[in-house]
Amino acid sequence: MHLRASAARFFLIFVSCMKTSSSLRTLLLAVALPLVAAVIPVLVLTLSSGDAPLRKARGPFSAWERTLIEQSDSVMYVCVVTDPKDSLELRTPSRDLTDKEIRSELYATLAAKLLATVRSPQQGGVGIAAPQVGLAIRVAAIQRLDQPGEPFVVYPNIRVLEHLGDTVRGPEGCLSIPGKRGVVPRSEGVVIGWTDPETLEPRTEELHGYVAIIFQHETDHLDGILYTDRAESVSDDPDWDAERAPYAMQGAYVKPAWRCTR
Ligand SMILES: [Zn+2]
Repeated sequence: MHLRASAARFFLIFVSCMKTSSSLRTLLLAVALPLVAAVIPVLVLTLSSGDAPLRKARGPFSAWERTLIEQSDSVMYVCVVTDPKDSLELRTPSRDLTDKEIRSELYATLAAKLLATVRSPQQGGVGIAAPQVGLAIRVAAIQRLDQPGEPFVVYPNIRVLEHLGDTVRGPEGCLSIPGKRGVVPRSEGVVIGWTDPETLEPRTEELHGYVAIIFQHETDHLDGILYTDRAESVSDDPDWDAERAPYAMQGAYVKPAWRCTR
């Protein structure tokens, strides 16, 4: 507000000076006009910003997305359905990444942290999607159990383009739903599409079997869908032992304080 008062004072001085000689007037104009030109955009920005929302975008990724990616540990906090705020994150449909974002250092950091999280012995997952770490961004890290060495691969803008074959039923669990498992009907095969992070060209691939199930589970996450939405039955997981999953109890599921202030 004090910026507005200063601008008004400056305007009054400027007007009074305009009543002096023509040479002084020319000099004042030469000095004052660039000043006025510089002040007006600042004034407009100051008056229009008000309480700027935290999510206001500053280039690639929103302010909150940048904060979460940069401030998280290499093994990120995983949202769980038992936390009401986490549930909202898990239910938010993801947006696509732009080419500029896929090329950015921040994306490389996110990809590395997603991989570290899903591969951590305490999690032991075969896939993780960005909404599970609180980011409504269309990216998932998935273990290619059908490839030699069973590598984890990060897929930007991943989606199922086509469902193939019969419906099959199998057990599924989820890092965001600890201690539970369900029997879920899925398509036996899928055609997936994503953006190649190297060339930025669209890629497609046909998959069958268990890896096709993983892709359906993870792309569901990107649409805000959990396996429990599709499951024919959900029960306690007899293999899940809280005492043998110390990270789940003491680490990953203890939300960092800075995230609670969002
Ligand atoms: Zn899941």
